[in-house]
Amino acid sequence: MEQLCAICKKQIPTETGRRPGPFCSERCRDIDLGRWASGTYRLPVEEEQSDLDGPNADHDLS
Ligand SMILES: [Zn+2]
Repeated sequence: MEQLCAICKKQIPTETGRRPGPFCSERCRDIDLGRWASGTYRLPVEEEQSDLDGPNADHDLS
């Protein structure tokens, strides 16, 4: 049963294949965690900024 590392795409050795997560080594696992932490993985969400300066942003300038 072959499994490829989610980071470097190398085949995960059988010995380390028991590790939680599809990683060939702890190093790659740390890289994956680092990517999550740094926000490399971003969901394709629509960034709405309508709360910043909308038509209702009335300041007392009159
Ligand atoms: Zn790897």
